[in-house]
Amino acid sequence: MEYSGPTSLYIDGEWVDAAAGETIETVDPATEELYATVARADEEDVDAAVQAADAAAEYGSEWRSMGPSERGQKLHAMADAIEEMKDEITLVESHDNGKTPFEAGMEVQMVIDTFRYYAGWADKVTGQYNPVPGERVNFTTREPLGVTAHIAPWNYPFQLAGRSLAPALACGNTTVLKPSSQTPLSALYYGLAADEAGIPDGVVNVVPGSGSGAGSALASHPGVEHVTFTGSTEIGKQVMADAAQNVTGVTLELGGKGPNIVLPDADLDAAAKGIHYGIFMNAGQMCWAGSRLLVHEDVADELVEKIVQRAESTPLGSGIDDDARMGPVVSESHMEDVLEYISIGENEGATVACGGGVDEAKDTGYFVRPTVLTDVTNDMTVAREEIFGPVLSVIEFSDTEEAVELANDSPYGLLAGIWTQGLSKAHRVADRLDYGMVSVNEYPVTFPQTPFGGTKQSGHGREQGEEAVREFTQAKNVNINI
Ligand code: NAD
Repeated sequence: MEYSGPTSLYIDGEWVDAAAGETIETVDPATEELYATVARADEEDVDAAVQAADAAAEYGSEWRSMGPSERGQKLHAMADAIEEMKDEITLVESHDNGKTPFEAGMEVQMVIDTFRYYAGWADKVTGQYNPVPGERVNFTTREPLGVTAHIAPWNYPFQLAGRSLAPALACGNTTVLKPSSQTPLSALYYGLAADEAGIPDGVVNVVPGSGSGAGSALASHPGVEHVTFTGSTEIGKQVMADAAQNVTGVTLELGGKGPNIVLPDADLDAAAKGIHYGIFMNAGQMCWAGSRLLVHEDVADELVEKIVQRAESTPLGSGIDDDARMGPVVSESHMEDVLEYISIGENEGATVACGGGVDEAKDTGYFVRPTVLTDVTNDMTVAREEIFGPVLSVIEFSDTEEAVELANDSPYGLLAGIWTQGLSKAHRVADRLDYGMVSVNEYPVTFPQTPFGGTKQSGHGREQGEEAVREFTQAKNVNINI
């Protein structure tokens, strides 16, 4: 499919070229061919976008004055517009990122569901009455923040942009979205959807550009009141420092090294299926990938054999291949990084149980075979660092206490999985895990209704659910002496 979608920046309701005339070329990771060329925003364009958003957020502006129910209707209208374009966005995402259409379709559907969920919130953001001494009326309202910035990564380009755009808009903020320059295309469809939904000019702005240019300019812009950053821990720290210049609030959704703890009483077939999905979906390029399998020694051989069987029979292919269940990784340099991690693992004593290299049967594309490493210990590089590719590290334990210690012994704390048929055991272990999310007997899973985020270096703040309504509003206390 040839790309025929938008190629300009979307600022103040207009499709415009970058001020400096620069462009970004995106490559299809399955064919290694140029797929699209789009405008590349720099600091000047980011400034124009923030100014447009600032004007749209002003007291008395159309967006600020709009009733909350009507704002909710606008979010529903955006969801409708995205639904209309679902097939097109799915294919664009598949070509831009490499993921299979099945995976890209799930992303788009999650965005539709998220916009509908937050459409319902728009007229339910309430304050509270505060009992204070004396003859006073004292109450607290929740107001929008103003201009919110959204910096998205390349692994789920459409979904992770929409995940924060929807609550920000529902709460009455105006937004500037900067997608990754590796996958800038699907984000531009938010401009189309905003147009179609009749969202006032300046409320949604989309500025693809580099991280060090447009990204940093956005995070450090004094007109921005909040930055939602989804990406690596390393860049998240820089964004936090940039935002600190203006005491701008941040929500950080960063890396992970998710453990899947398999207790000896687990249903091993179900566990093998979930663990395979949790590390090889999206070619393992997931913050919440279950990249560490912590398995009880009594069932380790049997479970690993089941996972290896599944891994070896996973069909690899591009977005136009109907049978494909796993796509390429996003770029050649990322493929080299993943392969380097596998060899570091082997050098430190791990055994390659399957995979371990590229798919030799493919003439083009950055296809890394689903890889399972056994004989891993929790101090090895492959157990500590986020590989962000289709590589599962298997670590054995002999009792539940040891499993909890291994799981918590990580710089990250995003999502942890537990596999057991014992309900009490599941509760006891979940209670001990220092993670933002825990999932029992399925992995990974999240919903627009549930908070998403991590502890330690996996991030700061939460997205989704009611938590995001708090992130995108601020309390104002009013005291009246009667
Ligand atoms: P990245 O950190 O390289 O880039 C993320 C975004 O930040 C991109 O848009 C990039 O252009 C921008 N950026 C880069 N430098 C910047 C700077 N100095 N200032 C402002 N913006 C800058 O991450 P990536 O490689 O695109 O994505 C992979 C990472 O994202 C992984 O570590 C993964 O775990 C993480 N991630 C986290 C979540 C989550 O919800 N916790 C979800 C998906 C991905």
